[in-house]
Amino acid sequence: MTQKVLVTGVSGYLGQWVAAEALLQGFDVVGTVRSLAKADASRAAIGTVAPVEHLSFVEADLLDDAGWEAAMIGVNVVLHVASPFFVAEPKDENELIAPAVGGTTRVLKAAMNAGVERVVLTSSIVAMTSGKPSGTYDTSAWSDVTAPIGTYAKSKTLAERAAWDLVKGSSMELVVVCPGFILGPSLGAPADGQSVSMMRDIVGGKFPMIPDVAMGMVDVRDVARLEVAAISAPGAAGRRFVAASAQPVALSQLASVLRAAGYTKAPARKAPNFAIKLMSLFDKDAKSLLPQLGVTIAYDNHETFEELGWQPTPLEVTFVEMAAAVAK
Ligand code: NAP
Repeated sequence: MTQKVLVTGVSGYLGQWVAAEALLQGFDVVGTVRSLAKADASRAAIGTVAPVEHLSFVEADLLDDAGWEAAMIGVNVVLHVASPFFVAEPKDENELIAPAVGGTTRVLKAAMNAGVERVVLTSSIVAMTSGKPSGTYDTSAWSDVTAPIGTYAKSKTLAERAAWDLVKGSSMELVVVCPGFILGPSLGAPADGQSVSMMRDIVGGKFPMIPDVAMGMVDVRDVARLEVAAISAPGAAGRRFVAASAQPVALSQLASVLRAAGYTKAPARKAPNFAIKLMSLFDKDAKSLLPQLGVTIAYDNHETFEELGWQPTPLEVTFVEMAAAVAK
């Protein structure tokens, strides 16, 4: 019998690719959207790469119980992707924490009540290594939410912690995927997320200089494939998987690949760290970069290759294809 999967946040950058990959793999897909007004645009976007006859939508908000029970009917596996993603510091931390933590709790409880077999949760490397010193980390790493790690990182750390706490002693399985900075072409989500807007700004020449920061990165299509592989990977239950390059990639490397591919407005000069520190006094995006200045974090991602069969897309391909998509 065809398995039915629920993909939360199907209007988003990653959610659309996850839904597309699940459809391509033969699953029936129900996608959650905050408003059904976004359903047609999401269907059209996903339909550019996958058959959409077995795609349907339900309305559900991470901040509200309404809709989640109905969304779970007949669902075997939940791919919980939805969570607000912006790194600029919000005025009130609950703009991020409430949907991330409360939403994850709400989704997992509804899944448990409905007898869902497995949940695949999209966490992040920011739940593992935010605020850590330079070094190589594996999936035993957890960010310390009492340190000044930024509200987005705190939201992802607390949300993942809440998920693990909830499934303790339950028969519902949890698999967690921790992506690095996700890049690659957007299917044309109704609104641009943080990844797409950063690429648009770099390609469009918005930044005269590029911050001297590096991070684990990953192609959006790889994350989607890994999350769909995690639906049935036999040894995946109860584990976290890093979906990020083992070595950090500098934003200056990204810009250099783009310039070589003809995107000449991508900045050629690195911004000195003191300039970022100065900017952070009045710019929320610059402030969010401060914990990363001068830190080199690498990841032991070998389990992702072994258990989920990861075949990483070369990041040069990711960068150039994404630039082409945003430049359209
Ligand atoms: P995105 O394009 O902004 O998508 C976020 C999704 O979450 C959207 O579908 C959004 O719905 C939904 N959402 C936000 N608040 C919601 C709420 N209160 N109720 C229901 N849905 C809500 O971001 P993304 O890059 O695809 O991120 C998807 C996931 O990947 C997130 O969990 C994020 O933390 C994680 N992640 C992203 C990156 C990255 O570099 N992009 C890296 C690591 C992990 P609307 O369309 O209605 O706003």
